[in-house]
Amino acid sequence: MRKTIVPFLSFCLMIFLTGCSSAPLNLEIAKDDVMNYYDSGKYDAELDNVVKHAESKFNSTQPGDSTVVIFDVDETILSSYDFEKELDFGYVTPLWDKFILEAKEPAIKQTKSLYDFLVKKGFKIIFLTGRKNDQYNATYNNLINDGFTKFDTLIVRQPPEYDLTALKYKTLQRTELTNRGYKIAGTVGDQYSDLDGPYHGIQVKIPNYLYIIK
Ligand SMILES: [Mg+2]
Repeated sequence: MRKTIVPFLSFCLMIFLTGCSSAPLNLEIAKDDVMNYYDSGKYDAELDNVVKHAESKFNSTQPGDSTVVIFDVDETILSSYDFEKELDFGYVTPLWDKFILEAKEPAIKQTKSLYDFLVKKGFKIIFLTGRKNDQYNATYNNLINDGFTKFDTLIVRQPPEYDLTALKYKTLQRTELTNRGYKIAGTVGDQYSDLDGPYHGIQVKIPNYLYIIK
């Protein structure tokens, strides 16, 4: 009898342990992990490497008159980390909209440095963001105030595009730019939905441990 019970108990234990191993991380622990990563300098160190690697890739490209690099905005060149932290990493649409309209988001220094490097090399810059058209002025002012003074275009979502996924919207915009004669040498973004799809050129993935946009 024991011979059957022991394997049975072992089987139950295995199921229990397997169940435990797939349990999610406690939310408070996950938040602490993210804060430690950002506040300890590890996020900065990762970004330093990403930008260094990106510059070496762009160095081998000689830009022509219509060669462009596309940058996303939020968590790519502007950081909302302090704001997110203040909200305990929750998302409240009216507060987020108010935050954007204040136009006070700080630049991410590493991607600002990549932007400066590309401008100096003669690449055109286009900012392509999922922000909406009523946020255009605030976004434009925020960019200028943070030193992003040389760019070709700032593209925001127009009303017919509000319901598109980020991937669909950004893919359509890059396709349109290509059809208009731009040669996209690279795309810089914190989300895979910024980078996937056609006409992306060199893909530069900026780390983001705060949220995912599909
Ligand atoms: Mg972004």
